[in-house]
Amino acid sequence: MYRFILATLFPELFRPFVETSLIGKAVERGLLGFDFLNVRDFALDRHRTVDDSPYGGGPGMVMMAEPVIRAMVDLPVCHKVFLSPQGKPFTQSTAQRFAALDKPLLLFCGRYEGLDERVVERFDDQLSIGDFVLNGGEVAAMAVIEAVSRLIPGVIGKLDSTVEESFSNGLLEYPQYTRPEEIDGQRVPDILLSGNHAKIAEWRRGQSLLRTYLTRPDLFAVYEMSDKDRKLFNDALKGHPEK
Ligand code: SAM
Repeated sequence: MYRFILATLFPELFRPFVETSLIGKAVERGLLGFDFLNVRDFALDRHRTVDDSPYGGGPGMVMMAEPVIRAMVDLPVCHKVFLSPQGKPFTQSTAQRFAALDKPLLLFCGRYEGLDERVVERFDDQLSIGDFVLNGGEVAAMAVIEAVSRLIPGVIGKLDSTVEESFSNGLLEYPQYTRPEEIDGQRVPDILLSGNHAKIAEWRRGQSLLRTYLTRPDLFAVYEMSDKDRKLFNDALKGHPEK
């Protein structure tokens, strides 16, 4: 079983999340497990205070170091992640690294203006889910949980479907279509109806390269294309209306 430990002031936010859809089913089947740690339970006063005003002044409150240190003292051996907009970007390769861990993954959800810097150093990773600021780390933790869980064998139907997914090979995924064959005059590309699996794979590869080029030039710039890739990309580019 793959275990997540969620350190949060709002464990109730996770209840429907861990009981619903693929994650809920994976919990029922014993593939995923969740433990919760409420930092408020480790406060030092009877008001269960976990925040205080910042040294040096300024707006907002800061999560205090001591309750967090107390909460982390008796943890089992685990990989400790502090979710923060100031962290390194969380990417598909981070998700792959976490899915391969042989110990629980602790996700610490900050609140207020953040965490006393002296505790931040005690985490193994500080990770951001994007260049924007959330009210707290809980939604970020859910994003990490979904990305990691779908790489755990058995959680989604076919692990194969994660192999070609966006980012897993450095590219965005090719476009997908399902029935009907035509909607308002828009037809599914003929190649997908041809039954020629080799040609379909080539078309998908070309589309995957084209999409990455058009919407994620940062990824495309560092992607090393083979000679065959270059040909498939050029064919896809020729067929693109805005080439
Ligand atoms: N004052 C902080 C700053 O400017 O960097 C932002 C604090 S934010 C309001 C409160 C908490 O939300 C953070 O400690 C972090 O746990 C979480 N959070 C906010 N944005 C995040 C992001 N993009 N990725 C991961 N966690 C985030």
